[in-house]
Amino acid sequence: MVLFAHPAGHSVSPAMHNAALAALAIDARYEALDVPPERLGEAVADLRRPEVAGANVTIPHKRAVMPWLDVLSADARAVGAVNTITVDGGRLVGDNTDGAGFLRGLAELGVAPRGASCVVLGAGGAARAVAHALLRSGARVALHNRGRRRAEALARALAGAGTVTVLAAGELAGAVAAADLLVQATPVGMEGTAPGASPLAPGVLPRAGAVIDLVYRPPETPLLAAARAAGLRTQSGLPMLLHQGALAFERWFGVAPPLDVMRRAALEALASSERGPAPGRTGGR
Ligand code: NAP
Repeated sequence: MVLFAHPAGHSVSPAMHNAALAALAIDARYEALDVPPERLGEAVADLRRPEVAGANVTIPHKRAVMPWLDVLSADARAVGAVNTITVDGGRLVGDNTDGAGFLRGLAELGVAPRGASCVVLGAGGAARAVAHALLRSGARVALHNRGRRRAEALARALAGAGTVTVLAAGELAGAVAAADLLVQATPVGMEGTAPGASPLAPGVLPRAGAVIDLVYRPPETPLLAAARAAGLRTQSGLPMLLHQGALAFERWFGVAPPLDVMRRAALEALASSERGPAPGRTGGR
């Protein structure tokens, strides 16, 4: 399997998948490929070989890859992005396991989405997958993005999936305080990016709700540290990363991979990249 990214950066996915393949004694390898946008079609065509099980797709290719595929899953169509390609009898099937991966992480945190009031910060690909998964699970979602128009466009696109609203900056603190779940889905707090201003003023946290920051490098962002200090349940982006990868693995090989092995490999890869040079802005898996 391969990961299509640009740049490929310090991806955690090869370590995670190769550890699972070794544990299950499956004779296959997973590698990250740096695919510039102009070579994407060629790279996708190259998957149509009997020895290829599939691929992952990440920034900046998740939308651009869609026209090159033969079939799209309902999740891929709903989210408008593909993170997993499975080679099925020569056909390329595009799926999106980000939302389902997020929900598995949410279950680990002990948060039931049905009826929950959720605030999602951001309106990019990650926010879209998460908001869609929450809505489909019966949560109410309020979106806030620094560019309001993008949040409004996302809310319109998701309206058919459930109750979704857009928060103006002045409404954010009150909505966050009352939320059962806050999801931070922007790169703010991520290593290797220029420090961005947090969408949240200092001290703005749920009164009792849980906080998930989809950033997983560093493992604890300033937002998560503040939430933990306030006694709230917190989670980094690692469980979502782990579970979206495990779901992709299941699509490719028809077996569930050992999650503990994958989690350990991901943590080790993150720790060793922390010891190395700072990663570029990849958002890469
Ligand atoms: P994206 O499509 O590029 O969207 C980025 C979003 O963040 C946009 O809404 C953007 O707002 C907002 N944003 C960017 N810089 C900001 C800043 N300085 N202040 C406030 N808002 C800012 O990226 P994405 O794919 O959604 O990824 C977002 C984050 O989620 C990344 O850190 C990525 O690593 C993480 N992620 C994690 C997982 C996981 O498995 N854990 C999966 C996917 C992504 P504008 O619209 O105003 O530009």
